[in-house]
This record gives sequence, structure tokens and C-alpha cells, in this order.
Amino acid sequence: MSLIKCPSCQKQISNKVDICPHCDFSLNQSKDDLNRLKVLNYRKYRDQMYRFKMLTFTAMAIAISGLVPMLWTYAQAIDYGFNANFLNHWGIYLIIAGFALYVVVRAKMFQIKRNYKLKK
Ligand SMILES: [Zn+2]
Repeated sequence: MSLIKCPSCQKQISNKVDICPHCDFSLNQSKDDLNRLKVLNYRKYRDQMYRFKMLTFTAMAIAISGLVPMLWTYAQAIDYGFNANFLNHWGIYLIIAGFALYVVVRAKMFQIKRNYKLKK
């Protein structure tokens, strides 16, 4: 008995089993099925990347919705000659939140991309 990688979930399984105990993937299948699996994996990858891309836009929108009121306050500060303290402005929290979300989402996208390349 030797260990092989399951083509579906990439976990180590025995070469003697017909069905992967981790994901129920049938190992007695034709090349056609394997190709279909590759297509399915690609679609899953593409859909995931698309969803995360939308999330990066959301993150940017959050940051911008904090930045715009801050610029507005800044413009008023110039017009009326008062000092605006931007660290006290509520917009800074939206900028930080948007930026944090953006970084997390990009890291997740990087991870998904790397996993997909490993599976191929
Ligand atoms: Zn499996």
C-alpha cells in the first residue's frame, strides 16, 4: 500500500481505496471525469475570485465614504479658517476599516490563487 493524493481534495489517501474517505471522490473514473473536475475547480476558483474582487470594491467604497467627509471638513476648515483635527474625525474609522478589509481580502485572494495553482 502506498499513499497518493486525492485529485479532488488533495488529502493523502491509500492507493487501494476506490473512494476518497475525505470527500467521497471516486478514484475509478475516466480521464473525462478528471477533465470535468478540472473545469469545475476552475469555475469554483473563478467564482471565488470574483466574489473577493467585489469585496475589494466594497472595502474601497467604505474607505472613500470616510475620506470624502474628511475632505469636506478640510475644505470648510480652509473656508472658515479653523483647524481641523483629522484624527478626531469619524471618517478616519471608515478609512481604517476599509483599508483593513482590503488587506484581508487581498491576502485571502493570494491564498486562493496559490491553492489553485497547487491543485493544477
Ligand atoms: Zn478527497
